[in-house]
Amino acid sequence: MNLDLNALIEEILPKQKEGKVASYIPALASVDPNQLGIAFYDLKNQQIIQAGDSKTRFAIESISKVIALLWAIKKLGIQEVFTYVGSRQTGFAFNSALNMEITHAKKPLNPFVNVGAIMTTSLIVQDKEINPHPFAEILAFTKEICNDPDLYLDTQIYLSEKETGDLNRSLAYYLKAKNMMIAKVEPSLDTYFKQCSIMVTTKSLANLGAVLANDGIKPWDNQRLISSESATVTKSLMMTAGLYNQSGTYSRLIGVPTKSGVGGGLVSAAPHKFGIGIFSPALNDEGNSVAGLALLQSIVDKLDLNIFK
Ligand code: GLU
Repeated sequence: MNLDLNALIEEILPKQKEGKVASYIPALASVDPNQLGIAFYDLKNQQIIQAGDSKTRFAIESISKVIALLWAIKKLGIQEVFTYVGSRQTGFAFNSALNMEITHAKKPLNPFVNVGAIMTTSLIVQDKEINPHPFAEILAFTKEICNDPDLYLDTQIYLSEKETGDLNRSLAYYLKAKNMMIAKVEPSLDTYFKQCSIMVTTKSLANLGAVLANDGIKPWDNQRLISSESATVTKSLMMTAGLYNQSGTYSRLIGVPTKSGVGGGLVSAAPHKFGIGIFSPALNDEGNSVAGLALLQSIVDKLDLNIFK
């Protein structure tokens, strides 16, 4: 790859000043905003390239919604999962329940808004009788798909999410009140808060992106982990709903399936080419990493990765 990543990072890092670290989850507020890192999984040359703050661990947050969706599909099948959660864009903030009220939705509009993610996680929680440890399952699957045996749950972040997660609690109880929830609310929320508090690096995310970009096959050992169909469906949803209310804008600007998290992470899957993980914790008003998106856009242009071209 003919790219001076260190120079690019140096050029783009000051952009983080335009954003703010998420503070509605108190344990995230103390993260140093002045960080930018990237890792690529290059499928063609079978190598990982890293630069900047690529080895820093950070909370995966909403990117865990991608993993929980893949795990739910693996366990229950695509048809069953999308009986309970839709695949529509919302036009509302990620933590809004209003969208369901206004659209008279009979299920959450997609698995990447919080209400849809809580629903998806509840689908994993529901077979508690067969498997009493839904989070352990998600954690093990996350380690596998991220090829990162060292990733872990940050208890401080988890407890902070749990303590301040009243909006998420209201979304879950809304689902219950509307008879859409099929699992118990509290274990579903607890599992959701935990999955958001898993600590990853840009390399973990580059590996996740690489499995999606490689049609569901782990490129590091050539074994299929998820079905081709679930990789395709997930990439489509990342394109239409992966960046909250900026999904449409970035579909136009970069044209690469991407999912963000309020921990400052971004995962992208450039089909058959690259898995990309980026980290920079200062967020714009829509909840996406400011410097991270700028770096992604620059790289997509330089490497000509827009899938619509
Ligand atoms: N744990 C966060 C929440 O539920 C995840 C949101 C995000 O990353 O967008 O609010």
